[in-house]
Amino acid sequence: MKKHKQRIVIVGGGFGGVKVAVDLLKKDDQFDITLISEHDTFRYYPSLYHTATGGSRKVSSIPLVELIDPSRINIVKAKVVKLERGYKYVLTNDGQEIHYDYLVLSLGVITNYFGIKGLEEYAFGIKTLHDAEKLKVHLHQQIIDESKPDLNYVVVGGGPTGIELAGVLGEYVQYICDKHGIKRKSVHVDLVESNPRLVPRMPAEIGKKIAKQLRSRGVKLYFKSVVQAQDDDELFVNGKPIRSHTVIWTAGMANNPFFAEQGFQLNKFGRVRVDQYLQSEPSIFVIGDNADTPYSGMAQTAIYDGAYIAKSLYTIIVDQKTPKPYSAKKPIYVMPAGPSWAAVQWGPVRLYGRIGWALRRAADFIGYKDYESFFKATRHWLAEYDREDLCVHCQPEESVLEERAAF
Ligand SMILES: Cc1cc2nc3c(=O)[nH]c(=O)nc-3n(C[C@H](O)[C@H](O)[C@H](O)COP(=O)(O)OP(=O)(O)OC[C@H]3O[C@@H](n4cnc5c(N)ncnc54)[C@H](O)[C@@H]3O)c2cc1C
Repeated sequence: MKKHKQRIVIVGGGFGGVKVAVDLLKKDDQFDITLISEHDTFRYYPSLYHTATGGSRKVSSIPLVELIDPSRINIVKAKVVKLERGYKYVLTNDGQEIHYDYLVLSLGVITNYFGIKGLEEYAFGIKTLHDAEKLKVHLHQQIIDESKPDLNYVVVGGGPTGIELAGVLGEYVQYICDKHGIKRKSVHVDLVESNPRLVPRMPAEIGKKIAKQLRSRGVKLYFKSVVQAQDDDELFVNGKPIRSHTVIWTAGMANNPFFAEQGFQLNKFGRVRVDQYLQSEPSIFVIGDNADTPYSGMAQTAIYDGAYIAKSLYTIIVDQKTPKPYSAKKPIYVMPAGPSWAAVQWGPVRLYGRIGWALRRAADFIGYKDYESFFKATRHWLAEYDREDLCVHCQPEESVLEERAAF
């Protein structure tokens, strides 16, 4: 009897999951691969802030079928809601039972509002393309709507995402004013952080340099400032109200609730405990943001994990050997803070300014190139220079409606 091809089921069409799929495809058609993801696009998170401030969506959202040949991999757009360990299948929200021999889980994280009153309802996020475009539409609308001027913008969270956004927001608001022929007004961008400094997990010098850079761009920094509540007019920080209709929450992420619901063993931060082969249990691999590894929480780590798993699966299934144990790789930290400026920590080396920005652009190219051909990667990389403003006054009305419908 002919043996069936080994079924590899990958859940999550993000940095980790897509990398597993792309690398397995390089190894001939030896496996029966299924990729299940809630969305049919791959989100390039590092560019979402750029999309929110006038950049093209092409840089932050790429259809999965552009990265993975659908004639060689079964792509299923669905949400996995249950793991049936005994019968080795996952159940999707639309009732499909998808059987596996090997399962790879790379589900990413979710936004955590820590139960703070009003935040989920009133704050903007920057975790999905929908979030980025909703914010962009709002920024235009607030400027156009003269009866409701809103020139106080609050970014919460002094980590890389908050810094990126705060660094370009003021300039984008001024750009919108010019675009709509509205006299420039003074724009206030506040960055609120509960710790005594920016990027608290990085060396103090980096936080200081970024703070200096942001201040030079007019951003007001509030440290040791804890958000307590938000309503439709104000954000309450350390017991005091800040008036604003544009609060952007970047301050919290939590592991995907799937793992707690399905009885995985978690560490104290809610990440999944894995062994030296990134297995949470036999035949189930957990990678990227979900795994309790030293540098999880970064795209570079998810890509590295994905490449490791593709190699390991080949070794297990084709070579019928034990794979090499996983060894974590320290990422390069690149944090932009305003146009053409970034701070970089690369091992012991620290770089700031334009050179940091050049490295960031190089990292973006490598990021795209990890998934696609040189030509396609170049196209996405160059799309960084395209402008896309979602507003009837900036673009013909029909195209805006089409874009909004595509959210
Ligand atoms: C705004 C922002 C900026 C960032 N900037 C950087 C940066 O500059 N550099 C860097 O290294 N890292 C950055 N990161 C972190 C980086 O994006 C993550 O570490 C990386 O995406 C993790 O990859 P992953 O595969 O674990 O998860 P993801 O890339 O999030 O992919 C998870 C996928 O799984 C899908 N999914 C979730 N649940 C289910 C389910 N139940 N069923 C089916 N599908 C599901 C999701 O829809 C998603 O497509 C940033 C993150 C954010 C939010």
